[in-house]
Amino acid sequence: MKILVPVKRVVDYNVKPRVKADGSGVETQGVKMSMNPFDEIAVEEAVRLREKGAASEVVAVSIGVTDAQAILRTAMAMGADRAILVQTDLVLEPLAVAKLLKTIVDREEPGLVIMGKQAIDDDMNATGQILAARLNWPQGTFANTVTVGEGWVEVKREVDGGLEIVRLALPAVVTTDLRLNEPRYATMPNIMKARKKPLETIAADALGVDLAPRLETVSVVEPPARKAGVKVSSAAELVEKLRDEAKVI
Ligand code: AMP
Repeated sequence: MKILVPVKRVVDYNVKPRVKADGSGVETQGVKMSMNPFDEIAVEEAVRLREKGAASEVVAVSIGVTDAQAILRTAMAMGADRAILVQTDLVLEPLAVAKLLKTIVDREEPGLVIMGKQAIDDDMNATGQILAARLNWPQGTFANTVTVGEGWVEVKREVDGGLEIVRLALPAVVTTDLRLNEPRYATMPNIMKARKKPLETIAADALGVDLAPRLETVSVVEPPARKAGVKVSSAAELVEKLRDEAKVI
């Protein structure tokens, strides 16, 4: 079975995002970019399934600018066998991303798509669900544990009340939650090996998909700065402040 892993290039999670001066979005120029953390978890899970013999090939795919090649190389250094870049300079919404991913799924015919539950830049938490709907495949979202059997995948899902177990017929889409696994670091020898693995580039324009945006960003603003705290000298003073100033008791 082949596993397809969509990976997105986002502002590195250690970087404090800055809003562009014109309020049109978050600054990405001159900012460290990395693989979306939930997608690292997806790559790790796919590679572990291949190592266990439940999958035969892991293919990473990214939709984005030419520089997204770097995260595809990282995915291959972590163990993906090959990679596909769907090249576009457009900033795409989940619907357009899902439509492009569907064309890759139709071409590659994976038995399983494992992807992040959410990209940390736009926090959409939508692409996996839209992709599953457009493929008419079952979906197991917020995966905490993934087990593959003969023609099925069992997903333990993180839901509000605890864990829910669903069994899906393959092919299926699974989205990863934080506790699914701890992704491995790419070692230097594996980074060197990844340079030789195949990376195919396809122009997004060539896939016959409507990429026009449906949403308009009105403005992006920084969250309000937090006010500095005060030190109180006694429990009585704390109670007084909570009652008279914060008015929470
Ligand atoms: P989102 O719906 O934007 O929060 O993203 C959910 C997941 O969809 C991500 O964790 C990725 O696995 C996948 N995804 C979103 N955008 C892209 C992209 N441009 N290229 C590849 N995968 C993507």
